[in-house]
Amino acid sequence: MTHFSILSLARNALSRHSGWQPTWRDAVPKDGYDVIIIGGGGHGLATAYYLAAVHGITNVAVLEKGWIGGGNAGRNTTIIRSNYLLPGNAPFYEWSMKLWEGLEQELNYNAMVSQRGVLNLVHSDAQRDAAARRGNGMRLHGVDAELLDVDGVRKLAPFLDFDQARFPIMGGLHQPRGGTARHDAVVWGFARGASDRGVDIVQNCEVRGFLRDATGTVVGVETSRGLIRAGKVGMAVAGNSSRIAALADLRLPIESHVLQAFVSEGLKPVIPGVITFGAGHFYISQSDKGGLVFGGDIDGYNSYAQRGNLPVVEDVCEGGMAVMPMIGRVRLLRSWGGIMDMSMDGSPIIDRTPIDGLYLNAGWCYGGFKATPASGRCFAHLLATDRAHETAAAYRLDRFRTGHLIDEKGQGAQPNLH
Ligand code: FAD
Repeated sequence: MTHFSILSLARNALSRHSGWQPTWRDAVPKDGYDVIIIGGGGHGLATAYYLAAVHGITNVAVLEKGWIGGGNAGRNTTIIRSNYLLPGNAPFYEWSMKLWEGLEQELNYNAMVSQRGVLNLVHSDAQRDAAARRGNGMRLHGVDAELLDVDGVRKLAPFLDFDQARFPIMGGLHQPRGGTARHDAVVWGFARGASDRGVDIVQNCEVRGFLRDATGTVVGVETSRGLIRAGKVGMAVAGNSSRIAALADLRLPIESHVLQAFVSEGLKPVIPGVITFGAGHFYISQSDKGGLVFGGDIDGYNSYAQRGNLPVVEDVCEGGMAVMPMIGRVRLLRSWGGIMDMSMDGSPIIDRTPIDGLYLNAGWCYGGFKATPASGRCFAHLLATDRAHETAAAYRLDRFRTGHLIDEKGQGAQPNLH
C-alpha cells in the first residue's frame, strides 16, 4: 500500500468517510433513450458498459427497481470458472474467463479476481469417467483442466475426509484458473465505467409495463417513475424474467427458484480454492475476510421470495459434514437467498424476442455470475447490431421449440458445481 493510499484511508476514517465521492451518478430518468436495460445487476450493468465502451452507444439507461447489485449479483458465492463441456457453452464461458483476467485493467477497478482454482470432487468410477471426459473436452477447447487422483486431491485439500467418508473421495477435476471475484466490486466497477461514459443508472425505478406502438413494437417502458421511451429495451432481470416477460404477454421457458448461501465467522486461511462435493449438495470457498462461503441445492419449489427454507439449510450442512467434518465446529454468521432464473436445459438465453424492440438476457440458473463479462459483451452486441454475437449464437430462445437444446444440466444446473 502506498503512502498516498494510507494517508487517504486515515483521512477518510477520521472524517467518517464524508469526503468520499460516489463512484457513479444516481441519475434522474430522461424522457427517452436509445436503449433501456431493465435490471441493475451484473449483467445489466455490464451490457450498458459494453454498449458504451465497445459500440459507442451512450444514450442508455439502466433501470433498477431497488439498488444496483441488490439481486443475485450481490448474493452469489462469487465463483468463476470455465469448466464446461458442450460446444455451445465452452467457448462462451472460456471467453468470459479471459475477460475476467483483464477486467480490473479494463475497468481500472479492483474486482478482487482471485484465480485460486476450482476442484470438483469425484466419488465413483462413473463420476471419474465423466470428469475425465469433461477435462478432455475442456482441453480440446483450450481450457486448463487437470484430472487428479486421491493423492492429488489430498495435496490440495488435506482437511477433507479421506478415511471414513460415506462417499470416499476417488479424485477430482481441477481447473487452476477458476476461482472467485468480489461480486459487489464487479457491480460497482461496471457501474462506474458505464456512468463515466454517459449511461444513466436509475435506481428505485421499477418497470411495471411496456409501451407498444400500433404494430406491437416495444417503444418504451412504464415505470414507478413515469413513462420512458426507448429505441430498444433489453431485459436482464434474472429471477424476475418470467414476471417481466409476462408484462409483454410473453411466456418464457424459465422457472424461478430460490438458492441459498451461507457464510461462517472469519477463520485463518484453511481452504485454498473452491471445492465442490460430488456426492451431495455442498460447495465451499473462503473469502478474503476469512469467512467460509458455502451453499448447495435450490429450494425445491418455485418462488420469487429472496429467502430460503430450513430443510435446505440442513441438507447443505449435512453435505459439508460428510466431506469436510471440520466444518461442524464452525459458527454460522448468516445465510441469504436469491432468485434463480432456471432455464429448462440449464443454459442461458441471449436473444431477440418475438416482439420487436424487446430483447432477452436470462436463464442463467445458478451460474450467471461467472458469465457477467461475456454476457454483457454479447447482449450489448445483440442490442447494437441486431445480430447474435458468434460466441453466444447457440443461446437462442427458439431452441426450446426446435429442440436444439444445450443440455448441460450436469454442469450448468447441477447443484454442486456452481
Ligand atoms: P441480478 O443481480 O439478480 O439482477 C437483476 C436485477 O433486476 C435485480 O437487481 C432486480 O432488482 C432487477 N429487477 C427485477 N425486476 C425489475 C423490474 N420490474 N424493474 C427494474 N428492475 C428489476 N453464479 C456463479 O457464476 N457463481 C456462483 O458462485 C454463484 N453462486 C450463487 C449463489 C447464490 C446464493 C445465488 C442467489 C446465485 C448464485 N449465482 C452464481 C448465480 C448468479 O448470481 C446469477 O446468475 C447472476 O447474478 C444473474 O445475473 P444478474 O447479476 O444480472 O442478476
